[in-house]
Amino acid sequence: MEDKIDYNKNDKDDKNNNYEKICYMCRRPESKTGTMISMPGGIDICPDCIQKTFNSMQSMDMSKLTNMSKINMDDLKNVDLGSFTIPNMNLNPIPERARVKKRDEKRTEPLFTMKDIPAPHKIKEMLDEYVIGQDQAKRIISVAVYNHYKRIFLDKDKEGTRVDKSNILMIGPTGSGKTYLVKTLAKLLNVPLAIADATSLTEAGYIGDDIESVISKLLLSAGNDVERAECGIVFIDEIDKIAKKKNTNSRDVSGESVQQELLKLLEGSKVEVPVGTNQKNVMAPMETVNTDNILFICGGAFPALDDIIKERLQKNTSMGFNSDLKDKYDNDDNLYAKVTNEDIRKFGMIPEFIGRLPVICTLSKLDKEAFKKILIEPKNAILKQYKRLLELDEVELSFDDDAMDWIAEQAMKKDTGARALRSIIEEFMLDIMYETPKDKNIGKVIITRDYLEHKGSPNIVFRNI
Ligand code: ADP
Repeated sequence: MEDKIDYNKNDKDDKNNNYEKICYMCRRPESKTGTMISMPGGIDICPDCIQKTFNSMQSMDMSKLTNMSKINMDDLKNVDLGSFTIPNMNLNPIPERARVKKRDEKRTEPLFTMKDIPAPHKIKEMLDEYVIGQDQAKRIISVAVYNHYKRIFLDKDKEGTRVDKSNILMIGPTGSGKTYLVKTLAKLLNVPLAIADATSLTEAGYIGDDIESVISKLLLSAGNDVERAECGIVFIDEIDKIAKKKNTNSRDVSGESVQQELLKLLEGSKVEVPVGTNQKNVMAPMETVNTDNILFICGGAFPALDDIIKERLQKNTSMGFNSDLKDKYDNDDNLYAKVTNEDIRKFGMIPEFIGRLPVICTLSKLDKEAFKKILIEPKNAILKQYKRLLELDEVELSFDDDAMDWIAEQAMKKDTGARALRSIIEEFMLDIMYETPKDKNIGKVIITRDYLEHKGSPNIVFRNI
């Protein structure tokens, strides 16, 4: 059954919000087409389409379209149009997500002022509440983000020294918190965020997502408000996967070419993007987004980069009086922190690309102690979430220190970083969440290591009734 569509909806919306009108025929927004003619039923048509319509109207039998105020799009489909064809007409209503927010020249208040951007130490403090460890990365990012928004603010004056963009390259093993850090940052600063995967991007014209799709996503996350999107954050994950392919004779459409195409976005350029979709098609309205003030953060695990760093360090110190032992760096956990642009270039990133990501920060592999903290300390820690759920059943949930050790040890074995924690916990918490509400006398459940190792049951404390 077809859904009943409210054709007056767009009319009502236009009164309530600042979305641009979109031509029902060609789907371009009003900013592109010029003033639209609004028809009853919430239909807007641009002057071009009206003109085209008049041009082909001579042979049309208009007698069936007498009562325009009661016109219904379904009726229109059945009208005998003679030789008249409506150009590019798509009779489906324009979806909300494809509507473009008006550029409000009279926006009385600026999107943000310097007062809205917390100082670096404040940003770090806020990040500390969610992200465990990674202190150096948090410091670097806090300063970079602060400078980035200062730069936007300075740009508005258009005078004085122009500050360069501070796009960030984040290097760290999987599950160390790269994505989580960026997500938390965007949430705290209340700016739109788009997360894209570099592996899905290909050179324009090849199967895969165009580079501009990243900006479409950002626009969507900004509620199609171009101005808001223009000072958002884009996180491109798995950036190491678009390293230059070695020894390849074929065209590298998902590697070096993608890096080349990303350059213009990173540096700042005006891109035409479809609204409400990742795919460019004739029916989607297009918008121009300036990427100049968008903060780009690229993240990746860069496996085998440690070998490159090690090789360089060994070469530097293997000669002369200061020579070191050959295996000095073999067990160095902090090797990634010693990365240089040259190492990243050797890995396969082109120099122009590295040049546009001037801030490099590295995240370290999380250890057992960090895992234990992640379980309980962050504001939305997984164990806190379970405790909260059981609180509603008036049951107190707690974990022995030994039990937390066990969870952290299991997560270490999986080698997927903190990501493993949730799946481990969910596995054993299922029984607890299922059984506990059965017995109203249960007042407290204590998870022990024995229970997790299937050697016993959890400690249960009953209420005194
Ligand atoms: P990646 O580095 O691969 O992008 P993610 O950021 O996606 O890893 O981390 C996966 C999950 O692990 C996050 O959703 C978060 O819950 C948790 N996590 C990872 N690192 C940390 C951290 N340092 N502090 C708190 N939670 C973390």
